[in-house]
Amino acid sequence: MVIVMAPEATQADIDGVVELVRSAGGEAFVSRGVSRTIIGLVGNVDNFGSLNLRSRNGVGDVVRISVPYKLVSREHHRERSVIRVAGVPIGPGTITLIAGPCSVETADQTLASARLAKKAGASLLRGGAFKPRTSPYAFQGLGLAGLKILGQVRAEVGLPVVTEVVDPADVDLVCEYADMLQVGTRNMQNFALLQAVGSAGKPVMLKRGMNATIEEWLMAAEYIAQRGNLDIVLCERGIRTFETATRNTLDISAVPIAQRLSHLPVIIDPSHSGGRRDLVLPLSRAAIAVGADGVIVDVHPQPAKALCDGDQALTGDDIAGLADVMATMPGLLGRTLAAAPEPASVSA
Ligand code: PEP
Ligand code: MN
Repeated sequence: MVIVMAPEATQADIDGVVELVRSAGGEAFVSRGVSRTIIGLVGNVDNFGSLNLRSRNGVGDVVRISVPYKLVSREHHRERSVIRVAGVPIGPGTITLIAGPCSVETADQTLASARLAKKAGASLLRGGAFKPRTSPYAFQGLGLAGLKILGQVRAEVGLPVVTEVVDPADVDLVCEYADMLQVGTRNMQNFALLQAVGSAGKPVMLKRGMNATIEEWLMAAEYIAQRGNLDIVLCERGIRTFETATRNTLDISAVPIAQRLSHLPVIIDPSHSGGRRDLVLPLSRAAIAVGADGVIVDVHPQPAKALCDGDQALTGDDIAGLADVMATMPGLLGRTLAAAPEPASVSA
């Protein structure tokens, strides 16, 4: 941490800061410039937090040098992590395709979607039983009935399941059916939920809040990690900008930035970022090219009849297009497409 003293700071102000830092067990190194003095602090940064240094006389600015998250940071864990979801890897070396319907609507629709997902090369099935909807009048998901459908389809198709949990009270229930828990963009800073999934003993996919900075996203991941769960996959799903041509703006640079700052795998959701079917394949290619560790895509057998997000769901020829991207692009980046587990290993 570095303290930049204001130009008008007096010697007494400087001495006051130095004394304060020493009283908190730290060391303070003063260097005087022509017009300004800066003070370098060495010690446990957490102890300095309660000193309210910014409010001291003569202090111009306080600049943090080390990152505020620890467990998810690469400073503390140099190697990039591989997270396994029922044996399916997500991390460097592979591209993992997760695909499925936005929402579980019926058993037939979910089964048909899972078959489309498999055809596209997916090794994990997505699908929401609990849906966080902007409107209270919109389809809210089937809840427990949806989880049961996911369980049946998982057994029939052999793809482990990624599904969203929106309420800390539902975490245990969702864990009975899910191989990976999804925390959605609207819940990225639902701290009680983050702590609950951190204690659940299942891998977690943490979507970036649509208004969240990368640092806030990593701090949210730190909440999960702090409860003892480091099996976290970060998902960039687009952020709010002034642009109206897309549902959200895919922040493609978030991938290499988050990968540099954190050891956790980073995947992209081209469906919720673009919000348009015609953008899903181009954005999937971009995701792989930029170094993402995976892609999560909405598919649906009849998008026009979908109860949620039909505009962005792939179907028909686009599934073949996605399969082609997945067959050809990972190799160009020195990666392989993650394979679905052996059917026998996905238990009912
Ligand atoms: C979803 O994946 O179904 C979803 C609701 O996504 P997001 O939280 O990114 O909007
Ligand atoms: Mn959706």
